[in-house]
Amino acid sequence: MDFAFDARTEELRGRLLAFMDEHVYPAERTAHEQRAALASPWDTPAVVEELKAEARRQGLWNLFLPDTEHGAGLTNLQYAPLAEISGRSPQLAPTALNCAAPDTGNMEVLAQFGTEEQRKRWLRPLLAGEIRSAFAMTEPDVASSDATNITTHIRREGDSYVITGRKWYISGAMNPDCRVFIVMGKTDPDGPDVRRQQSMVLVPRDTPGVEVRRAMTVYGYEDHYHGGHAEVVLDEARVPVENLVGEEGGGFAIAQARLGPGRIHHCMRLIGMAERAIDLMCERAVHRTAFGKPLAAQGVVQQWIADARVTVEQLRLLVLKTAWLMDTVGNKGAHTEIQAIKIATPRAVVDILDRAVQVHGAGGVSQDFPLAELWAAARTLRLADGPDEVHQRSLARRELKRFA
Ligand SMILES: Cc1cc2nc3c(=O)[nH]c(=O)nc-3n(C[C@H](O)[C@H](O)[C@H](O)COP(=O)(O)OP(=O)(O)OC[C@H]3O[C@@H](n4cnc5c(N)ncnc54)[C@H](O)[C@@H]3O)c2cc1C
Repeated sequence: MDFAFDARTEELRGRLLAFMDEHVYPAERTAHEQRAALASPWDTPAVVEELKAEARRQGLWNLFLPDTEHGAGLTNLQYAPLAEISGRSPQLAPTALNCAAPDTGNMEVLAQFGTEEQRKRWLRPLLAGEIRSAFAMTEPDVASSDATNITTHIRREGDSYVITGRKWYISGAMNPDCRVFIVMGKTDPDGPDVRRQQSMVLVPRDTPGVEVRRAMTVYGYEDHYHGGHAEVVLDEARVPVENLVGEEGGGFAIAQARLGPGRIHHCMRLIGMAERAIDLMCERAVHRTAFGKPLAAQGVVQQWIADARVTVEQLRLLVLKTAWLMDTVGNKGAHTEIQAIKIATPRAVVDILDRAVQVHGAGGVSQDFPLAELWAAARTLRLADGPDEVHQRSLARRELKRFA
């Protein structure tokens, strides 16, 4: 077993680390200052566009997309350590590299299931970083972790689909650059197979009947860098039938396909967030003195640091193994491992961030350090892309099957 990264990964890691040091970290403060001066907090600060242009110039662009026609052609195993590095500055780096959710998942869907025309109209500008997109599945009125519950109705009328429903926590939708939503709804609500009732359609933001109603917060944060999370109401929104993604009844299967890579990308970035938390924790502990000695000399703080390092090493190995399995046996064959990392990573990283907050005292919960916001972001990943309990249930069922 070889634990070294291959030459291409090492070369990209070196370039990405330099890009983070030279461009991304220095831009964090600038982005905050520029955002404060924007007419709307949902607009994109100029420095983000500058970062995108620089990343593209350096070839650090669309690294997430394994197909060589549209993306960088990296395997999951090659992309994993790069996504981890971008996770150290989750507000800026993934967007700078055009590797941010939910656009990544939407680009994968369009690359895999889109028609020629859909790719031309939506995939091309997304790959160029000219527009953003959103994925609209979750609904406030039903338990949406069970996608068969979705009630949004997609009715066929001649050459159109007419869509009515209410969605919330639709990431990215507050950003005016978000020009299109992939909406999941039911084309056949009474069909006998509950997993064939759903379809996905592309709904341009400016379609009459589409209302981005309000921003949903995350522990009070508006998540401006991710384009917020919106409640979106569709009231008889009409789109041409050509906007169907894949086939009628194929929505559930596309949603499953979309979430595999998305989950591992989140876990990779979470490990980067944990590494940043460890750095901040150590730096603070070394420079802050209480009761006559640095915090770093306190046994309890050393224990937190050691535990955090052990946990991160364990998580990284599991994430890399999962990436390798996805590359070698496919997403289906890596099902158990994808679920395992989705269960293990967010909760462990939330814990590490919490310890880092503790070491910082009041500063830890303040706006002067990134920890509070990182904690809130990591905590949401115990819900988004499937709550822990849903993954645990499905993983346990597969284990039990062997004994039935
Ligand atoms: C920050 C953020 C961003 C998001 N972005 C998007 C987005 O872009 N697009 C989108 O469509 N959605 C998005 N979501 C929504 C997310 O995917 C859903 O919140 C998630 O799927 C859970 O659905 P729900 O909120 O309806 O919870 P529910 O389905 O109501 O579940 C509530 C709780 O019930 C428990 N539960 C459910 N099923 C089981 C089970 N089988 N066994 C045991 N316990 C169970 C779990 O503890 C679960 O947390 C986002 C959410 C957040 C917080």
